[in-house]
Amino acid sequence: MPRIQLLSDHLVNQIAAGEVVERPASALKELLENSLDAGSKNLQIELQAGGTKLLKVIDDGCGIAKDDLELALHRHATSKIASMEDLARVGTLGFRGEGLASIASVSRLSLTSRFNDNGQISQYAWRVEADHGRMLDPEPAALAAGTTIEVHELYHQVPARKKFLKSDATEYAHCAAMIERLALANPQVQFTVIHNGRAQNRWQAGDLNKRAAAIIGEEFVKTGIPVDEGFGNLRLYGIAGSPTLGKSSRDAQFFFVNGRFVRDKVVQHALREAYRDVLHHNMHAAFCLFLELDPEGVDVNVHPTKIEVRFRESQAIYRFLITSLSKALAKTTAGAATQDTP
Ligand code: ADP
Ligand code: MG
Repeated sequence: MPRIQLLSDHLVNQIAAGEVVERPASALKELLENSLDAGSKNLQIELQAGGTKLLKVIDDGCGIAKDDLELALHRHATSKIASMEDLARVGTLGFRGEGLASIASVSRLSLTSRFNDNGQISQYAWRVEADHGRMLDPEPAALAAGTTIEVHELYHQVPARKKFLKSDATEYAHCAAMIERLALANPQVQFTVIHNGRAQNRWQAGDLNKRAAAIIGEEFVKTGIPVDEGFGNLRLYGIAGSPTLGKSSRDAQFFFVNGRFVRDKVVQHALREAYRDVLHHNMHAAFCLFLELDPEGVDVNVHPTKIEVRFRESQAIYRFLITSLSKALAKTTAGAATQDTP
């Protein structure tokens, strides 16, 4: 056996990239979450070749100070937490400080930003570039406000990964699904999506009903049941799809915990249970629901992609979800207890 040695930072980042950025859609998620954490109200997303050739996000958020620009691309560098206490009650989408470092290690990346320090807009914008982890010095750049980030040729120089990328159409579909989740969770933010130079979507800022109608469908919102239930520090709100609108797939199931799209067994089980008596057993409910709870009651630091969470009191959550949802569903299904959808 050879002697033990420390891995280079570059290699560490590339290994982490395998976990954080599985494909263009996961890189895009990191970029968009950063823009949302920066308080952006308007996001423009430009993709080429399903995101494999280009992922570009233009935001109007708070920007990054020149002196922090290079640090933003370093691993374990974050402005979002500073202590264990912060970690326990994290309120931002990001906090691990590894998104940009990971992406920068497996692509050519350019990050341009103009810092807005509580209304004090800095005189210049600055840009840093990184080519597979090798960083160039910051240079002045032109940008009205916010941050613009471009990721070119993600994984093109990492053959082991590149071969796992699917067709452009499939990668685009993953990106589009990712954008929809973030757009549903942030109806107050305008999203514009362009793919291969063609406009795909523009969702104006509005409320949840408007956003859900644009993404899940008019029918879903029109027939859906508004939910807003609270118990202690738990709140469940959003739209529960009408049982008459059963789907053959789970594509229209959106569940968010403290603003974060999650896939969770406890949640899935509770929702299935609540719909059990009103939905044909072969069908899947449509829903767009938001669970809010004290950040200390949920651990989001389970996996690098943060799609899994762990509830501190999962039994209480389970019961709360079933009770709240059953109550909401009972309102419309009274008198029509079982609805068999053909
Ligand atoms: P994390 O989001 O976990 O902090 P990232 O690697 O994704 O880690 O980003 C590192 C840091 O760069 C963030 O903490 C933030 O300060 C800054 N940053 C990244 N993207 C943006 C953006 N679009 N607007 C403002 N700041 C950003
Ligand atoms: Mg991040």
